[in-house]
Amino acid sequence: MDFSTTALTLYNFTWVHTPEYLERQNSCVQSTQYNESLTVVYHIFYCITCTLTRVPQPPREVKNIGFIVLPVQKVKIMLVAVLVMACLWVGLRSIANARHQASISALSWALAGRVVVIDPGHGGVDPGVVGRNNVLEKDLVLVVGHKLALYLRQGGARVTMTREGDHDLADPEITGLYKRKRQDLARRVALSNNLQADAMVSIHINSFPNPSQYGAQTFAKPDQASRTLAKTIQDELNHLLKTNHRVPLNGDYYILRHSRVPTVIVEIGFITNPREYRLLQDPLYQSRVAWCLYAGITRYLAEEGKIPPVHPK
Ligand SMILES: [Zn+2]
Repeated sequence: MDFSTTALTLYNFTWVHTPEYLERQNSCVQSTQYNESLTVVYHIFYCITCTLTRVPQPPREVKNIGFIVLPVQKVKIMLVAVLVMACLWVGLRSIANARHQASISALSWALAGRVVVIDPGHGGVDPGVVGRNNVLEKDLVLVVGHKLALYLRQGGARVTMTREGDHDLADPEITGLYKRKRQDLARRVALSNNLQADAMVSIHINSFPNPSQYGAQTFAKPDQASRTLAKTIQDELNHLLKTNHRVPLNGDYYILRHSRVPTVIVEIGFITNPREYRLLQDPLYQSRVAWCLYAGITRYLAEEGKIPPVHPK
C-alpha cells in the first residue's frame, strides 16, 4: 500500500488527507513507530463508525483525525480477544437456541390429536395491508400459515386452515365488500367453533403511518386460555426474533368476539417498517416466525391441562 498518496478509498469512501494528518503520519513513519496495518485498521474503524452512525455524506476531507500508534503485538492480542469473544457469543447463542428448540420438540406429545385452526387473514378481493411494490398481506400470511400447518402436522396435530389459497370464504354472488367481509369472517369463526378447536390462530400483518414502528404483537380473546396462548406465542416471538419486548394485549376484533375456543390474532410484523417489510418476504424469516407460532401453540397445549376449559366439550 502506497502511503505517499493523499487519497485512500475504502468501501467507496474517499479520504482526502489534510496536511496536518500527513505531517503526523510522516513523523510517525520517521520515528519508526508507524505501522501501516494500524492505519488501515484505523480507517476501517472510522468507516464502520460512519456506517453505523449513518453519516449521510462521508466527509470529503478528514480533519482533526487522530493517529493511533500501538505496538503491533498489543493490536494482535486485541484482535484475537475480540475474535474469541465474538465466536464465544455466537457459540453460546447457538447452544441456547438449540436447547430451546429441543425443549419444544420434547413437548410435541402435546400436539397429538389436538385440533388447531390456522387462519391466514384476508384473501381474494381483500388484500389486507399493502406494502411497497404491491406486496400484499394476504400473500405473506398464507405462506406463514402453510409453514405453520406443516410443523403442527409433523407434530401430530389435526390442522385445518380457513383458506389454503387466494380466496375468501364468502359466497361468489355477494359483491359488496362489507357484506363479503362480514360473511367471510363469520365463516372463519364458525369453522373453528364447529370443530371445537383446541386453539385458533389468526395470522395478520400490521401497518402504521410511522415507519419506525416494528415488532410482532399478539391479541387475545379476553379469557384465561386465550391469554395464555397469546403469552406463549408472544414469548416465543420475542425470544427467537429478538425484535421487540411487546406483551400480549386484549383485542376487540370480530374473530375474537365471536370465537368460542381459545383464539389469538398474531400481527407478525409491520409492512410499513423497512426492515420488517424486507424480512417478511424472506423465506427463512417466514419459517422462523412460523416456528415461533408452532412453539407457542405447543407450549400452550402442553400447559393447557392446568387451565380451566373455556367451554365444556
Ligand atoms: Zn390483517
